[in-house]
Amino acid sequence: MSESTPSSRKNIVILGGSYAGISVAHYVLKHAIPTLPQTEAYQVVIISSASEAMCRPACPRALISDDMFPQEKLFVSIPKQFEQYPEGSFRFVHGSATAVDHDQRMVTVRLEAGKTETLKYHTLVVATGASTPSPLFGLNRDEAFLKEAWVEFRSSLATAKRIVIAGGGPAGVETAGELGEYLNGRAGFLSSQLDNPKVSITVVTAGSNILPALRPSIAKTAEQYLAKVGVTVIKNTRVKGVSPPNAGADSSNLTTGATIALDDGSSLEADLFIPATGMTPNTSFLSQILLTSTGQVNTNLSTLRVDAAGPRVYALGDVSSSARPAVHNILAAVPVVGANIKRDLLLAAGKSESEVNVEKLFKEDKRETQMVPIGKSKGVGAAMGWKLPSWMVWAIKGRDYWLWTTGGLWSGKQWAKESK
Ligand SMILES: Cc1cc2nc3c(=O)[nH]c(=O)nc-3n(C[C@H](O)[C@H](O)[C@H](O)COP(=O)(O)OP(=O)(O)OC[C@H]3O[C@@H](n4cnc5c(N)ncnc54)[C@H](O)[C@@H]3O)c2cc1C
Repeated sequence: MSESTPSSRKNIVILGGSYAGISVAHYVLKHAIPTLPQTEAYQVVIISSASEAMCRPACPRALISDDMFPQEKLFVSIPKQFEQYPEGSFRFVHGSATAVDHDQRMVTVRLEAGKTETLKYHTLVVATGASTPSPLFGLNRDEAFLKEAWVEFRSSLATAKRIVIAGGGPAGVETAGELGEYLNGRAGFLSSQLDNPKVSITVVTAGSNILPALRPSIAKTAEQYLAKVGVTVIKNTRVKGVSPPNAGADSSNLTTGATIALDDGSSLEADLFIPATGMTPNTSFLSQILLTSTGQVNTNLSTLRVDAAGPRVYALGDVSSSARPAVHNILAAVPVVGANIKRDLLLAAGKSESEVNVEKLFKEDKRETQMVPIGKSKGVGAAMGWKLPSWMVWAIKGRDYWLWTTGGLWSGKQWAKESK
């Protein structure tokens, strides 16, 4: 059954309730709407497949056990974070966008309850992120789906003797490090590697080094730390095929044993296979003409508008072509999207150019920045081009995988001040 919502308000629709979507919603509610001539004529609507937000970078450790993090901090209710705003100014819709008609400016949503709803939008922000092939690494669907995947994975972890991880990026390396330390422990100070680990853990990467976003010398250190928790790295080798084909990816084959064929003709046997390669942007509901060849939303790199979609449409976060998928890029994009939404709403409400701020422009910081914990006490990384010592990676990220930062993001405290 389909119903359309006749709203007397102008909808500022945000698709996706994670780092990008929640941040923009707070920013607009705090800094844009109060400046509009008729404040009560607008409503911010977040539409998200999950009703909870979660600290996604924590997945490589969180998937091992609920004891790793306080669960009430790891997952938070989205609607609760918006109870602070005036009644009617915010609405949460638990469902997935299935179609956007950017000519008619309508979004169709499959509601969690099974029905369909269509909403007209005045402003649209696409912040639906990207999905991982493994369901262990984020809200590919909703929080229940993620938690169920973890429960199943944990039950198989108890008996697994061979684990293969495809992908030498941070998700694969962090997961290998966490599993290695949890299952095998850590070699002593004087040993360069853990001999005869209880569980054999192998990372396979097509690259000549793991962690391609970091310089090779840092990647080498990461490899040494991995060896200390019993993880072997196979480089310059591509996974050619997996049998059964969806091993580790779909829920029915999440923990099935698998044979992994490599492009050098050899193969590996695994009790657990974790595909940690590649992300798919969540854009199936958009017209192809709004997408790049890799499926991301084709976004104006400076204004973060989606120029081909008509006025007042924006994209940011992992779904957008504007920057490398990382939280620090989202934090830099939020004030730009927020300021440009404010400007565009004021102009649409009849203000003149001279009465509104000039456009705010985004520029991605492309310096080497990535932190990769390897278990609970070690890590490698760089920030703004500077190599970081292991203890600093531990202090900033490895202790709790950024959980110390997400409270302020979800509650909006992070966005209390308007960026000038
Ligand atoms: C294992 C792992 C570790 C990471 N570690 C780090 C790190 O240490 N540092 C760092 O900077 N970055 C890290 N990242 C990247 C970081 O998590 C992402 O950049 C960030 O989560 C992107 O946020 P987002 O808001 O764009 O989208 P996402 O976090 O992907 O969230 C998108 C939301 O939209 C919802 N959604 C999807 N489709 C629809 C739809 N059709 N309709 C409505 N809702 C929809 C999803 O359910 C989800 O809630 C990591 C990523 C992974 C997978």
